[in-house]
Amino acid sequence: MNIILLGPPGAGKGTQARRLEKERGMIQLSTGDMLREARNSGSEMGVKVARIMDAGELVTDEIVIGLIEEKLQERPGGGFIFDGFPRTLAQADALGDLLARHGQALDAVIELRVDDDELVRRISGRYTCGECGEVYHDDTRPTKVEGKCDKCGSTNLKRRADDNPEALKTRLMEYYKKTSPLIGYYYAKGLLYPVNGLAPIDTVAQEIALVLDGRPGS
Ligand code: ADP
Ligand code: ADP
Ligand code: ZN
Repeated sequence: MNIILLGPPGAGKGTQARRLEKERGMIQLSTGDMLREARNSGSEMGVKVARIMDAGELVTDEIVIGLIEEKLQERPGGGFIFDGFPRTLAQADALGDLLARHGQALDAVIELRVDDDELVRRISGRYTCGECGEVYHDDTRPTKVEGKCDKCGSTNLKRRADDNPEALKTRLMEYYKKTSPLIGYYYAKGLLYPVNGLAPIDTVAQEIALVLDGRPGS
């Protein structure tokens, strides 16, 4: 099974993707994480995208499609959760082609619906573990011991450079202009499943499970 988690920045895509990995043995493919890795490694591509990411703009379709293509080749059996990809209609078309070429299908697109005020709260309180990538929030999901990752014990907890009000404004505009048309695109294909992303993390996870287990043929 291959699914997309679709939603604006801060909707909870990464949080739910990590749960699905644990609970269903699926693989999270986050283009945001891949791009941040490229930046940290100092590769030519990483240097090129750094300024664009910090400003909250989208990097070129060519770069992210290339990243996804590499991952699909590494694991031809599928079982992917696409998180933060596709973000444009061109990326959506490319994903359809890539999956078809690998004999894979897209099974569901989960749209996490969250309003803008809540996105601001979520983004301003977000921090992640620099070692294992676990996602936390100052108010709604703090680490059990302050300054220490629940999952791996690391004290390397980080906030993202683009999680500031100015970049968030740009990221939201990019989402509404370029990514939200994907809602209609996947609705027309009969693949869209909206979920209330405002509910607590466990409730959202249960709703996603209902969708995935309740689809015809699953
Ligand atoms: P969030 O979790 O807040 O939705 P991501 O970690 O997915 O953000 O993405 C961070 C940044 O990486 C984006 O603002 C954009 O610059 C870049 N990026 C990630 N995925 C894509 C994509 N599919 N297309 C273009 N740019 C992307
Ligand atoms: P995205 O990957 O869509 O950008 P994240 O999964 O990183 O979103 O979540 C953004 C922030 O909101 C994180 O700090 C996370 O802990 C928190 N969060 C995620 N889901 C919920 C939820 N259902 N209720 C409250 N806070 C949440
Ligand atoms: Zn950790």
